[in-house]
Amino acid sequence: MIPFLDLKKINAQYKDEIKNKINNVLDSGWYLLGEQNKQFEENFAKYCETKYCIGCANGLDALRLIIKAYGFGVGDEIIAPANTYIASILAITDNGCTPILVEPDLDTYNINPDLIEAKITDKTKAILVVHLYGQAVKMDKIWALAKKYNLKIIEDSAQAHGAYYKDKRVGNLGGASGFSFYPGKNLGALGDGGAVTTNDEELAKKIRALGNYGSHKKYENIYQGLNSRLDEIQAAVLDVKLKYLDSDNDRRKEIAQYYIKNIKNPFVILPKMYDAKAHVWHVFALRVKDRERFQRYLNDNGIQTIIHYPIPPHKQECYKELNNLSFKITEQIHSEIISIPISPVMSDNEIQKVVEVVNEFK
Ligand SMILES: *Cc1c(COP(=O)(O)O)cnc(C)c1O
Repeated sequence: MIPFLDLKKINAQYKDEIKNKINNVLDSGWYLLGEQNKQFEENFAKYCETKYCIGCANGLDALRLIIKAYGFGVGDEIIAPANTYIASILAITDNGCTPILVEPDLDTYNINPDLIEAKITDKTKAILVVHLYGQAVKMDKIWALAKKYNLKIIEDSAQAHGAYYKDKRVGNLGGASGFSFYPGKNLGALGDGGAVTTNDEELAKKIRALGNYGSHKKYENIYQGLNSRLDEIQAAVLDVKLKYLDSDNDRRKEIAQYYIKNIKNPFVILPKMYDAKAHVWHVFALRVKDRERFQRYLNDNGIQTIIHYPIPPHKQECYKELNNLSFKITEQIHSEIISIPISPVMSDNEIQKVVEVVNEFK
């Protein structure tokens, strides 16, 4: 079986280095908000070309903290893509804000910038963009709208560590950006982890406090905060793996190029890429009308697949108030999308086998 993602193999590449670092943390006797956090935050900010990085517990918290730090709440609207992982929307509703969903375009699967302006009201506070599947959202029109209507731009960069929009890195395309280091992401920890990047000093300070019970100074609480911190062990692991992120992403790009060039099947729609630097291929998602049969066929032929995602947020049981809305393109994507294996540790043989099997689907 070619696994969808072999996490053991991915982390085995850095095993000795990771073990050493974890040992150092163990011996240090200091497990939260210490030297490892500081180091990783500094290095990740540098990587994203931003002034500040604040570690936190996971990607959902990174987004929750950004919205909370901006002070958005009940009565405020945040524009977001209808086609996304539910965490993007949970961050909005958890703060009491109303998500205003916008359809994607079928070329990128990202929010369609041409459909945003019609959704802006006097309650709109922010546009949350999601760089889905690893491809940066085309930002020009969104930057112009944010300026025209005085809106914040919040990035959900959980799937796109290292991608660029033109000459700017994801994480540096708006007011603040949330990252996830869930083990399966392009930069993944050995458990949960997340971070916010921003160039806004005030916001950075507030997010740091909010993630630490709302406190800058122990036992003095100026905000009603959360407990959302990146622990020293995860920060140490991430700091090791960050050094290899660009080369890992390069291998993903190589595999994606190979798939795009060699997968030829009239029943399969390939993903499109508008710029080689804009896509870090967190997933390689195909669209197939007869998806269930395609998935069974791949499984029978030794290829594991995953569906990102089977049910869009507005059709989830937890969002009954959104269930009656209709987003036709989003619903079409959710009914046809299927991701085939892509990861830096796949061998050339495995990649060839995937192509052969996909091409033989009838
Ligand atoms: C993974 C993910 C998140 C949430 O990250 P966690 O660390 O799992 O909380 C948010 N948004 C998107 C698009 C994601 O893929």
